Amino acid sequence: MSAPKTPGQDCLQCGRCCERWGWGQKGIAEDLVPWLESDRQDILRHVTIYLADGMKISGAALSIDDLPKIARIRYWQDPDGKELRYCPFFWRSDDGRSWCRIHDVKPRVCREFTPWNWKNLEYYGSCPACRDKAP
Ligand code: SF4
Ligand code: SF4
Repeated sequence: MSAPKTPGQDCLQCGRCCERWGWGQKGIAEDLVPWLESDRQDILRHVTIYLADGMKISGAALSIDDLPKIARIRYWQDPDGKELRYCPFFWRSDDGRSWCRIHDVKPRVCREFTPWNWKNLEYYGSCPACRDKAP
């Protein structure tokens, strides 16, 4: 387990980004490949898949051959298919620091969350690492 964001950046592990934006996000098919190849059912069962024919399925029911049929991917759901309004992989330790239980294989939307590089005020204003860097 490791920090929500990539070590070496300016993340303070406050966890606000994961709590606020760690759900209701779109995925890409490339996110699913390592999970399918490693049979990460613990992750796949939390992924909502919409197929091109309109069917909605769980990532747990997906195979590599189904990837071209995917129209949309959404994070996250409970194993019964109900949309979650939190990330099931977020964890806060007793010292208050936040952690990602799937850090090594987290989806691109999480890997590329680097608000200190952006001009988007909604993200930038909520990240203490960004505020500390503000002039
Ligand atoms: S809000 Fe900023 S400092 Fe807090 S965990 Fe996210 S990236 Fe790190
Ligand atoms: S998968 Fe990890 S980095 Fe992404 S929202 Fe959840 S805890 Fe945060």
